[in-house]
Amino acid sequence: MNELLQVYLSAWPTVWAMDTARYLVGATLMATILAVFWRTGLARRKLQARDPNPGQKRREILGSLRTAFIFSLLGAIVAVGDHQGWITIYKGFSQAGPLYLVLSLALMLVAHDTYFYWIHRAMHHRRLFTLFHRTHHLSRTPTPWAAYSFAVPEAMVHGAFVPLFLLFVPMHGLGLLAFGIVQILRNVMGHAGAEVHSAAFGPGRWLGWNNTTTHHDLHHEAGRYNYGLYFRFWDKLMGTEHPDYRRKFEAIVSPAAAAPASIGVGSAIARAIAGSVLVGGLFLAADPVRADDGPVGRWAAPGVAAIVELAPCSGAASLCGTIRWLWQATDDKGRPRLDSQNADTALRTRPLVGLSILSGLTRTTNGGWEGRIYNPEDGQTYRATLSRAGTDALSIEGCVLFICQKQVWRSVSVLQAALR
Ligand SMILES: [Zn+2]
Ligand SMILES: [Zn+2]
Repeated sequence: MNELLQVYLSAWPTVWAMDTARYLVGATLMATILAVFWRTGLARRKLQARDPNPGQKRREILGSLRTAFIFSLLGAIVAVGDHQGWITIYKGFSQAGPLYLVLSLALMLVAHDTYFYWIHRAMHHRRLFTLFHRTHHLSRTPTPWAAYSFAVPEAMVHGAFVPLFLLFVPMHGLGLLAFGIVQILRNVMGHAGAEVHSAAFGPGRWLGWNNTTTHHDLHHEAGRYNYGLYFRFWDKLMGTEHPDYRRKFEAIVSPAAAAPASIGVGSAIARAIAGSVLVGGLFLAADPVRADDGPVGRWAAPGVAAIVELAPCSGAASLCGTIRWLWQATDDKGRPRLDSQNADTALRTRPLVGLSILSGLTRTTNGGWEGRIYNPEDGQTYRATLSRAGTDALSIEGCVLFICQKQVWRSVSVLQAALR
């Protein structure tokens, strides 16, 4: 026992120094890249209009240093396991060659992504969120310093991965080092706040199976989507990828986004006029509904309380619905209405306009559509079924257990016709 403690204590300072240095070097590197290339391109790739809160960086750094400490407490157990023969860490290539190193590293990354996806999704459950994950989501507009900004319980769950994985899979020492480097680099890239990936990382492109800054930034901004760490596999498979991901990534890396942002006053006014025409036009020049595409297009909820756009979710054969317009878009004080009833407190500052409320709608055998509907009035998500009620109406049924509520939405083309 004494010997084990000695092994542990002699390994710990090195593990702690490496975990801390890994974070500081990774985050500093990303912050430096952002600072150097901000004016020459990255400013135009900023993902959110809002800026990080004052004092946020300090909180993120302190939280991350605490996490590195917790990682080292768990990581030093690896040295004990190695000493006792519970796990195997290869040194040199006599027992397992370079090919094994590469394959085991790939396996470790896939396993970590899987572990992260499910743990992360579970931590978003309302009973676990406050204790485990709220600290990380205090950064709604993350910076690279947020990479390890976790509450102590969350840090312990993440730090357990490496010792657990090594119980099952022997690794090269170099493979472990590479894992540590890839992990922090992907992490600081995800929290960069401006898209640092090239267009080749776009969905459908050759590196599109990887996550991007847009992907994880949308998680911080919208919460209910994009739980993966390195890859998009699990989010695609489980239908939790943000419906707007593809559109947003492509828009941010497109040459148009990279065009000079400096606009004169004249063109600013022209843009403002074009903008207001566009906004006014949402109501009048709405997309026609194509029968063969299902209920794609804009729909008005009863009393024209809201206009919801149904469109294909990004990269998926399902439909998603987004609030595009609200009769009452502001509260009594003239502020935009927010998703204030959300169970996830981190999401309560999201504006209702632009909120995705219908997701994963797929065709049913009887010609209708089935998916999920989020009701901002009570902050709950329900099972939803949609069916056509004639050519210009849509019947929406949201069900909790056996209680179902029905609404009929009207195609905006009916409203257009009435205005003629
Ligand atoms: Zn999260
Ligand atoms: Zn994050």
